[in-house]
Amino acid sequence: SVSGKTAVVTGSTSGIGLGIATELARAGANVILNSFTDSEEDHALAASLAEEHGVNARYIQADMSKADQCRGLIEKAGACDILVNNAGIQHVAPIPEFPVEKWDAIIAINMSSAFHTTAAALPMMRKAGWGRVINIASAHGLRASPFKSAYVTAKHGVVGMTKVVALETAKEPITCNAICPGYVLTPLVEAQIPDTAKEYGISEDEAIEKVILLKQPSKEFVTVEQLAGIALFLCSDAAAQMTGTTLTADGGWTSQ
Ligand code: NAD
Repeated sequence: SVSGKTAVVTGSTSGIGLGIATELARAGANVILNSFTDSEEDHALAASLAEEHGVNARYIQADMSKADQCRGLIEKAGACDILVNNAGIQHVAPIPEFPVEKWDAIIAINMSSAFHTTAAALPMMRKAGWGRVINIASAHGLRASPFKSAYVTAKHGVVGMTKVVALETAKEPITCNAICPGYVLTPLVEAQIPDTAKEYGISEDEAIEKVILLKQPSKEFVTVEQLAGIALFLCSDAAAQMTGTTLTADGGWTSQ
């Protein structure tokens, strides 16, 4: 049970991260919400989770593109039994035009941040004698698409790192796994619909149907609630011997 455990979820003011934090709070975990902003709404979000579920919830500002802030997030949390590396951004462009600063930001936020938070969290998990590292990778951690060089590279990297963390913790009651979602209709995906339409020279409706859900045989978006359920399962005793693996929720995408 996750009751009384502390979960740190990076990039959790929106989308999948917020969904996972909400489900862990519902199951009784204390949660740390995070993003790079520091608004009233960020702190209000934590307060409402605490009130609704009777757990401790805090918002900690930390920019996951910065190594020291990734490590600082875990230190400020004070405890980290469950680490969900979820923060991520996307940029869609052909390689010759791909902005260097976007490449650097995606590699830092989507991949390197998980290394830094894990490095800071493992000693705490070892001290507590239990731990779960859950990396939110992607179907793009297992398959490629054109125009997403940085994202595909970072997500493949996260899948690789997941296996190394699993091996380094194999003899301990700590597991590390990657969830690989197909398309989920969050702000991250909504934002890339216009760019995808532009790259392919088609309308936004066609971009959803012909490009985005083309990869997903179910023709349905994965939901945040489904991913939150998978994350909670990874924290259960049933998943204690599952480590270093990928759990896909992609409507059949990676079966192709
Ligand atoms: P989202 O845009 O809704 O949420 C991303 C979160 O990360 C937000 O809370 C944002 O504030 C935060 N964030 C962005 N930059 C940050 C930074 N520098 N430091 C700290 N926080 C930062 O996106 P989402 O769709 O919920 O994506 C969450 C994760 O799931 C990402 O890693 C994404 O790659 C992955 N994913 C998403 C999909 C999808 O279809 N939406 C599919 C597969 C994987």
